[in-house]
Amino acid sequence: MSSDHQPPILLWFRKDLRLDDNGALSQACESGRPVVCVYIREPKQDGIGPLGGAQEWWLHHSLDALAAALADKGNRLILRSGEAAKVLSGLAKETQAEALFYNRHYERDAADKDIVGALKSSGLEIKRFRGQLLHDPETMKTGSGGAYRVYSPFWRALEKDGEPRDPVSAPSKIAAPGSFPKSEALKDWSLLPTKPDWATEFGRIWQPGEAGAHKKLKRFLKKPIQTYKSDRDHPGLEDATSLLSPHLAFGEISPARIWHETKGLEATNDVIHFRKELVWREFSYHLLVEFPKLATDNWNDKFDAFPWHFSKAQFSAWTKGMTGYPIVDAGMRQLWRHGYMHNRVRMITASFLIKDLMIDWRKGEEWFKDTLVDADPASNASNWQWVAGSGADASPFFRVFNPILQGEKFDPDGDYVCRFVPELRKLPKKYIHRPFEAPKEVLERAGIKLGETYPKPIVNHGEARDKALAAYADVTGRS
Ligand code: FAD
Repeated sequence: MSSDHQPPILLWFRKDLRLDDNGALSQACESGRPVVCVYIREPKQDGIGPLGGAQEWWLHHSLDALAAALADKGNRLILRSGEAAKVLSGLAKETQAEALFYNRHYERDAADKDIVGALKSSGLEIKRFRGQLLHDPETMKTGSGGAYRVYSPFWRALEKDGEPRDPVSAPSKIAAPGSFPKSEALKDWSLLPTKPDWATEFGRIWQPGEAGAHKKLKRFLKKPIQTYKSDRDHPGLEDATSLLSPHLAFGEISPARIWHETKGLEATNDVIHFRKELVWREFSYHLLVEFPKLATDNWNDKFDAFPWHFSKAQFSAWTKGMTGYPIVDAGMRQLWRHGYMHNRVRMITASFLIKDLMIDWRKGEEWFKDTLVDADPASNASNWQWVAGSGADASPFFRVFNPILQGEKFDPDGDYVCRFVPELRKLPKKYIHRPFEAPKEVLERAGIKLGETYPKPIVNHGEARDKALAAYADVTGRS
């Protein structure tokens, strides 16, 4: 029987917008049956979605790329909106599909249980595959059978476990059904910003989709990985890191593929360090699976009593990159313009919001979720809790980043600051991270009027730090 006379398999794409190393897809193709590929735009549900604005931009282009890749293999991407269970059972009836294949999507485990339950009872064969992570969180247990709460033993356990599985290649052909069900039009989903179009620079930096992901990986493996360990902390060095995070967030490349491609390289400290960063992502998911409320609740409930103080004006200054601290402002402006921020600067800006402004880390987490193209429910929440000190393996609260010293250490020539805060470009390097200390004539020569062309600091860092530490001591009983 030719494949188009067999009942098709529904292939549900979610955070796995790729053909390479896609377990569900390759198994569906191997079955020899036709495949109906669907992406569902679901309404907001408990704890899931909707995507932030920056990720909606990404999703539009990523779906476009996936549709083109499927067309190349003789198939199509069907777009539908609605509750997943309803859409899938409707499509199964329309196409007479008898099976549903999909890849596990960890933050959706609870919701998936209900969907799968509903569909199974209608007689659909359901198969779930893996690929979002190198290792399933459930397989990673401490000696006493619990979940890991500290990164280092987690990494050692992964090392001991041996190499992750090898990735599988993209199928050469994806059999099409006799006729395709109708698809909604991507443009009707209105995912792209219009008035104003704040994403004008995104397209220069990013190429959403699988081909873009593989290009980024290739570029990174050619050179930057050789000096990754030392260069990754310097935001002034463009492209010193892989820039794979948004591609990973949408599943356009699998971590197993990335890991595998580094296997051919000599295992230098740089290569190992890069793998360790990939494992921070794994660890974040490990924490999320253990504690699904990672984005909303303090891991350490002592922080429930922390006296956060929300100032609308200060929060707004932080989001706009107008705090008067150049490295913080450069980071927040990079985030707005590129949908991305360098990792070191994410730590500095997060520390500034939490400790200098004493604004609840959840406000920052939400802002990042809306503005990052790589916003990830596990990595975003676990890193915010790491900086806040409330997380599982967190930086202690009393470690307060000094935005001036951090700037001078990691952006010594002010290259990063000048790229995103052009009004400071003419300032001598000596003052680039502390314009408020520059003598009047130096500011004049640089064309800067503090409070007019560039803000005065919205808080005094030293005083703000003391205040935050005193509040911390009250809550934890430490002095
Ligand atoms: P590389 O340095 O090339 O690292 C390779 C990969 O390792 C990354 O793509 C990422 O998947 C993973 N990785 C690296 N560092 C971390 C980390 N600290 N935690 C988890 N995974 C890591 N990363 C996200 O992917 N999504 C987020 O929403 C996110 N929010 C963050 C919020 C804060 C407050 C902080 C401090 C960090 C956050 N990170 C987040 C982690 C990190 O900043 C980014 O993963 C990294 O900057 C992405 O750039 P890259 O791909 O060039 O990273």
